[in-house]
Amino acid sequence: MSDIATTTAESPARSPLAAEVARRRTFAIISHPDAGKTTLTEKLLLFGGAINLAGQVKAKGERRNTRSDWMKIERERGISVVTSVMTFEFEGLVFNLLDTPGHEDFSEDTYRTLTAVDSAVMVIDAAKGIEARTRKLFEVCRLRDIPIITFINKMDRESRDVFELLDEIEKTLALDTTPMTWPVGRGRDFLGTYDVANGGVRLLEGGGAKTGAAQQIEIAELAKLNANLDVSAVKDELELVTEASKPFELDAFREGHLTPVYFGSALRNFGVGDLLEGLGKFAPEPRAQDSDQRRVEATDPRMSAFVFKIQANMDPNHRDRIAFARLCSGKLSRGMKAKLVRTGKSMPLSSPQFFFAQDRSVADEAFAGDVVGIPNHGTLRIGDTLTDGEDFNFVGVPSFAPEIVRRVRLTDAMKAKKLKEALQQMSEEGVVQVFRPRDGAPALVGVVGALQLDVLKARLEAEYSLPVEFEVSEFQLARWVSSEDRKKLDTFIAANTSSIADDVDGDPVYLARNEFYLGYTKERAEGIEFTNVKDVK
Ligand code: GDP
Repeated sequence: MSDIATTTAESPARSPLAAEVARRRTFAIISHPDAGKTTLTEKLLLFGGAINLAGQVKAKGERRNTRSDWMKIERERGISVVTSVMTFEFEGLVFNLLDTPGHEDFSEDTYRTLTAVDSAVMVIDAAKGIEARTRKLFEVCRLRDIPIITFINKMDRESRDVFELLDEIEKTLALDTTPMTWPVGRGRDFLGTYDVANGGVRLLEGGGAKTGAAQQIEIAELAKLNANLDVSAVKDELELVTEASKPFELDAFREGHLTPVYFGSALRNFGVGDLLEGLGKFAPEPRAQDSDQRRVEATDPRMSAFVFKIQANMDPNHRDRIAFARLCSGKLSRGMKAKLVRTGKSMPLSSPQFFFAQDRSVADEAFAGDVVGIPNHGTLRIGDTLTDGEDFNFVGVPSFAPEIVRRVRLTDAMKAKKLKEALQQMSEEGVVQVFRPRDGAPALVGVVGALQLDVLKARLEAEYSLPVEFEVSEFQLARWVSSEDRKKLDTFIAANTSSIADDVDGDPVYLARNEFYLGYTKERAEGIEFTNVKDVK
């Protein structure tokens, strides 16, 4: 494993910057609730030694009292609304794990986090197979061609037939599978995993957790360990697996057509080392990122980054925010000045937060693939590009059409102006989307997941003393409208004023009563494009 960093190198003589980039792996874990994401995360972090959990509710228990009410929602429901960044080093590689919110509700944060990773680990509960949320997250990964490594978890329990599980991945996700390991014994008789490429069995008992130090054992010996095991059946199965499995192809994996599959038990820290080794070996280095001017290579020496998440600070008396920015190129160091391309202004990065696990004191620089937290008072927005002076904007940080649209009703009409400001700030933070109807009707808010509404309500009350209710609006759907032909767009807008609103950037949005109306309007709106994803610029 120690040669991983060098085997992935393209040329032996690399610049120090290229070497830093080459040793980074930035990934997320996608799964259905309860599949074992939290347990796996903890075990992965153990490999990295000392742990620093950024923005993690669990990690900062002592600071809980100072947190505002909306964090209570999170606590009461036992969920994490906050996307966290966890960085750990293992065998010379730097792993950045971006956590996606763990609740069932879908939020835009989840999608956007996936714009900031280069690969994903898909955790599947062996007894359940592909579940709804895994599938939805997988689809987002596929849209972005994010390569997936599969971890089939809970092998220490009764599981579904393993061939059937692989078949399900292939059929429902249209994704080829290559088992890298194969479980020996099932449920209570789960003994360990067979290394498909190299042979040998790694035992659950006795050092199974560590990579490299695995205890290898011949299949014939297994009968001595567990009398229930039918050794000849195991042999036949392993022969079948070895012969019938598709060989692992790095290109197919990197293009998102094939997933290597590992089996294990996060709870018992088994198979986690293999997974980590797989991530190190196969997962891509930080990728090049498209901008509206040029493609920016990760090894480009000039610093660039984009903001994919804003987290409000926990102190309701200060409107501090942390913007999470993913580095795309160059080096970001403490104290440097960056250009915020949207405004053209320079902003000093005087106290960026680095999320290094092992030694915080040396971590005052970051490279492509790393995530830094930038404290600010509302200067930074989701989708913002930071550079060392160049003028370009990264593309591909999306806004999603809300699945729920509501009108905000204020109990105190005197506070309308304050509400307007508060909604503006909340939309800049990405808590909700705000649509202002052109006909002057009260603002509508749109969310992707219902929990976002609870968060909005709690925060408006706690931070702005604005008690609000949400009312069902006559509109249920929102689509961004655009056209190559400016005139056509103007005509469309003029003909539909009562259904047109402006989003936070002033871009026009068409509001529809339901799918039927939307379809009806679309059919008659020649030359107008309706989209449910908007690139944030
Ligand atoms: P998450 O919702 O995906 O984050 O799942 P958790 O990590 O919280 O796990 C859900 C439950 O499954 C917890 O009770 C875990 O202890 C349990 N669990 C996780 N991994 C394993 C495993 O490998 N084997 C068994 N038997 N239980 C597990």
